[in-house]
Amino acid sequence: MVILFAMSRAEPLYRLQLADVDLDQASKLLREIEAALAGNSAVQHAQSELGAAEKVRAAISAHIRSLELESQSQDAKLREAEERLYSGAVRSPKELLDLQRDIEMLKRQRDHIAEKLLATMLELEEAEQTVAQCRAALAQAVARWQEDSAALREQQRALQERITAASEQRNAVMAVIAPADLALYKTLRSKKSNGMAVAIVKGKACSQCGEAPSSMLLQQARGDTLVTCPNCGRILYSG
Ligand SMILES: [Zn+2]
Repeated sequence: MVILFAMSRAEPLYRLQLADVDLDQASKLLREIEAALAGNSAVQHAQSELGAAEKVRAAISAHIRSLELESQSQDAKLREAEERLYSGAVRSPKELLDLQRDIEMLKRQRDHIAEKLLATMLELEEAEQTVAQCRAALAQAVARWQEDSAALREQQRALQERITAASEQRNAVMAVIAPADLALYKTLRSKKSNGMAVAIVKGKACSQCGEAPSSMLLQQARGDTLVTCPNCGRILYSG
């Protein structure tokens, strides 16, 4: 297929394609970087670990407070019983024996609460250590994230500049392309799976499909004629 156009050449189409390919690549990278900037899974993970450790610590603290209250009320009962015992108010041997038994039982209960309190305090110490470790891990994750995101933001800026430059090149070259050439280019670009509408001629062959067009076609491709590859249909550009 040979299309004739006064002043039309494949070169601006080739330059348009360079800008379009660059725009596609840069836009894809930019989307990836923006997605990476939006998610910080390591920080989120460290935050949830810290939250869980703080919950454990709060539960143990609450348990300690209730044991302390229990211990206080037990002490008060014991004091009361001992006061009664030594007050001389209780005289009956049976009542005295009952009171002594009560006191023994209250002492055993007090010791049992004290043991539980000690064990729970050790648990609290462990929980405090876990919270401290989780805090350190979170601080580390945040620091790493800040480093990473600084690098990502730098890449984001560079890509935005690249996209602006490619868009400007694209607009400038579009201005010198005949509408029919542009239409052909767009049709080919959407039809070809790799988005390549223009093929460079390398070693007298189409660089996209390997077909070697006739020397007459190659000659025309160098001039003002738009020539397409007889095999893949792409616009041939001789460079
Ligand atoms: Zn071809």
